Amino acid sequence: MSNAFITGASGGIGSAIAVRLASDGYDIAATYCSDKEGAEAVKAKVEALGRKCEIYKLDVADPKAVNEVFAEAESDFGGFKVLVNCAGAALQKLFTDTTDADFERLNGINFKGVFNTCRCAVPYMVKCHEGKIINISSMWGTFGASCEVLYSATKAAVIGLTKALARELAPSNIQVNCIAPGAINTKMNNNLTEDEKSAFADEIPMERFGKPEEIAGVVSFLAGSDSDYTTAQVITVDGGLT
Ligand code: NDP
Repeated sequence: MSNAFITGASGGIGSAIAVRLASDGYDIAATYCSDKEGAEAVKAKVEALGRKCEIYKLDVADPKAVNEVFAEAESDFGGFKVLVNCAGAALQKLFTDTTDADFERLNGINFKGVFNTCRCAVPYMVKCHEGKIINISSMWGTFGASCEVLYSATKAAVIGLTKALARELAPSNIQVNCIAPGAINTKMNNNLTEDEKSAFADEIPMERFGKPEEIAGVVSFLAGSDSDYTTAQVITVDGGLT
């Protein structure tokens, strides 16, 4: 079994992915940005499953930091056949209130971050003639959300990168896919009140928010050999909303 490099592993979805891939038998390189405690909790859970886990502080928007941390992790693990890009940030604002700084921040984390890590991960995968890149986009990246124009656009960019990179890397036996989650119960939605969450849930055919584990299950499929002929896809996991 191989190793997985997961960004945003301190978050709700990323930590569920780390635990699920560890239970599938992967050793895990887990990155966090500010929540070291969250990352340490993930490390403890992965190690309890008998797998190796190292945690790395990383701002994915910083290409130099990504190069350095990825090189350090490659030296710790010997290389990664699975890359999961889960780091992300949200922003709810009217389009006309969106600033240049908002653009730089959100584009840096949600899109440039994926670009940065993929560029680091691909050479080893090409050398092995094997690899899986799994990017966490959003249903808003395919559908578009009012008052989340910038977020939706960065997540759409991730889908564009996924589809193009998948075609470029297909001859090297590397599959590149995207997951587009709907509303998932994590701290990313903590800005919503209970009443707002309940009103949103009423609009979802499944009548509830998703669980991080329900995204991790799809990552497990995309990381494993059952997905060897699946590439350039966007798998929406949104309880039927879009
Ligand atoms: P969380 O807020 O729980 O986790 C976000 C993760 O991203 C954390 O690990 C955080 O690190 C990390 N992160 C934030 N900024 C940076 C940065 N500059 N560099 C590196 N890492 C960073 O949210 P979720 O788990 O819900 O989100 C995970 C992914 O799923 C995101 O890409 C999000 O856009 C996507 N998504 C989430 C949905 C939802 O409803 N929850 C719906 C659709 C998509 P730390 O906490 O250590 O600072």
